[in-house]
Amino acid sequence: MLPTYICCPKCRGTLEQNDNSLICRDCTQQYPVNFNIPDLRWPRPEDDRRQQALLTRLAVSYNQSDFSGLVSMLSATSAEAEHLVSMYADYRLDIRRGQKFYRMFLERWNDIFGKPPLSFDVALDLGCGTGKGLLPLATDYAGVLGIEPDLPSLLLTKKLLEQENITNVYLVQAYAQVLPVKDNQFGWCHAQNVLDHLFRVAPAFAEIHRVLKTGGAFCADSHNRFDIFSKEPHVKIRWVGWLPRAWMKPYVKFRTGEVYEDIHLLSVFEVRRAFIQTFGPHNFRIIFPKVEPYGYPATWNRIVTIISKIPLINFAILAVFPSQLAIAQKSD
Ligand SMILES: [Zn+2]
Repeated sequence: MLPTYICCPKCRGTLEQNDNSLICRDCTQQYPVNFNIPDLRWPRPEDDRRQQALLTRLAVSYNQSDFSGLVSMLSATSAEAEHLVSMYADYRLDIRRGQKFYRMFLERWNDIFGKPPLSFDVALDLGCGTGKGLLPLATDYAGVLGIEPDLPSLLLTKKLLEQENITNVYLVQAYAQVLPVKDNQFGWCHAQNVLDHLFRVAPAFAEIHRVLKTGGAFCADSHNRFDIFSKEPHVKIRWVGWLPRAWMKPYVKFRTGEVYEDIHLLSVFEVRRAFIQTFGPHNFRIIFPKVEPYGYPATWNRIVTIISKIPLINFAILAVFPSQLAIAQKSD
């Protein structure tokens, strides 16, 4: 059953089920459904042959494998360097991480805007990846929507949800910049480790603002482009973000041999600008995260808390800190 808040991404009209596709009653645009997951990406993408081959293999393994089996299968087909493949596999398998991020979001949101709107009945996980951020939402909310452009990731998510006996999550393949959702639907939206893959941030924030209910919460973390403390998290080398954007790809290729694509690290200033344009100048904060969801010892939080209270210094450090939390409320 299609949730009532889902609509045509092209015209926001009503979608109808039709065998193995969805058709818009208003603009007649047709959308495929793969493995029971509607493909509501708009604008429509070109066919991706490499992905099609991967999906065929995943479909064959799907019924015989559990979640970790599918993660290993995906890792075995990766063209990346071995240390990165195992890092991504560990990252996907660490399903408790989603809970840690969610708790941090709740706590920080509560510090700034007061009690989070848990009483709202549906939540959105934007860029749900392989599903770890959906698990805590499925406990706290009556219904959850997981949105992700990558179908192989969604298949892994589907497996994880089945394994955890979670039945109140609906998955849709879609882009963050054109959400297939009616206005004013969600009390909570979070995006875990997603902003640095968005490329066009302001249009995505505008969509989040549109689909949130008044008073609704948006929380995301973002790896900082100008981080001076740690290695770039996707390719594990330093200083990539300090280069002009056009130099990043050749530099990473030169240093590691890896292809640096689908990554667009953001600075504090870029996130700030996108928030001002969409949520308005007074409805957001960009602040220090807690360190333990990223795998650092909790005792380090004391240092972060002290720094965060020193005027001017706090902003200077935040501008070069590994990650930021971006937290906003829809006010009208
Ligand atoms: Zn339509």
